Amino acid sequence: KARIYAPNRDYIDIGNDKTRGYVVDRVLFDRELAKRAVNRGANLQLKERVKKVKYPEVIAFSRYKGRIIVGADGLNSVVRRSIGVKAPKIIGAMQTLVRYEAEDIEKVYIFLGNSVAKGFFAWLIPLDENFAKVGLASYHAPWDSLKNLLKKLNLKPLSIVGWGIPIGWVDRSYDNGIILVGDAASQVKATSGGGVYPGLRCAQCAVKIIERALEAGAHSSSFLSSYEKCWKSGIGRELRRTLMLHKIYRKIRDEEFNGIIRELKDEKLIRVINEEGDIDYPSRVVFKILKRKPSLLKYLSIPAKPYHIQI
Ligand SMILES: Cc1cc2nc3c(=O)[nH]c(=O)nc-3n(C[C@H](O)[C@H](O)[C@H](O)COP(=O)(O)OP(=O)(O)OC[C@H]3O[C@@H](n4cnc5c(N)ncnc54)[C@H](O)[C@@H]3O)c2cc1C
Repeated sequence: KARIYAPNRDYIDIGNDKTRGYVVDRVLFDRELAKRAVNRGANLQLKERVKKVKYPEVIAFSRYKGRIIVGADGLNSVVRRSIGVKAPKIIGAMQTLVRYEAEDIEKVYIFLGNSVAKGFFAWLIPLDENFAKVGLASYHAPWDSLKNLLKKLNLKPLSIVGWGIPIGWVDRSYDNGIILVGDAASQVKATSGGGVYPGLRCAQCAVKIIERALEAGAHSSSFLSSYEKCWKSGIGRELRRTLMLHKIYRKIRDEEFNGIIRELKDEKLIRVINEEGDIDYPSRVVFKILKRKPSLLKYLSIPAKPYHIQI
């Protein structure tokens, strides 16, 4: 369930008893993935730091060789830099842990408006009855914006984390003997910054193409370009739509957010959101709502130029 606030504090409640997402302990999640990889024969080298990749060599404290090298090294990917692919644009995000007595730990709160988080949004997600995460991403001063929000909510930060959300495509997600997966390839939903699901979907493409490459003894750039074709024609289609929506969303002004929330206060529309809403495919519900309520289009400035050129 979620309560979505407009800048004027008006709100809508969406969701029902159907579970839409889970709050995951990221340390345990990553540890479990690492454990599974090791059980399948991976050689895990902790405390290593890759400095450069020059196919087939990976230069860290020691040197390694790979038939196919996967750059799944996150936002500031060294592998991406090594193959001369430019970093994507980034939006700054901050999150704090706060003491918070949740009335309903199943309910998250979303705060819209440039006055709260320019070009993005803020969130409050209860972790249990006593603690919550409060965070936001913003094109302008994310930390100051978060401090303002905490002040308004009368909450004090217990710990703080900051990161960057990659926005927009990278030019290429492959090279001779090398592929990029996850944040390294900017495989993130631009509407939310969520990269776990799309990264995993792209990893499925990576597995398929790497298996083929190893079988064929091939590693050329043109062979591995089929990895990019695979993810762009799969989850990439949704990522492209989220980019377009983000581009439109960025332009919405606070009065327009107020209007959108006012117009969404309609049982039929809320039902559409509840039935069609899918956290991993956010564009679907947006297009369904716009179809049902075309008057909402007046709040949106649709770009004349293709959005991927502008972002
Ligand atoms: C606080 C926070 C909250 C988030 N919330 C969500 C959410 O709710 N839902 C969601 O879907 N996404 C969320 N994200 C985004 C999500 O975490 C990323 O999209 C996702 O983790 C990307 O996975 P990845 O494997 O590509 O990169 P990462 O998870 O960043 O992993 C990269 C790995 O590479 C390692 N590495 C980096 N450089 C080197 C190097 N030179 N040598 C060796 N190793 C290296 C790093 O140590 C790390 O282990 C959140 C991110 C943050 C920071």
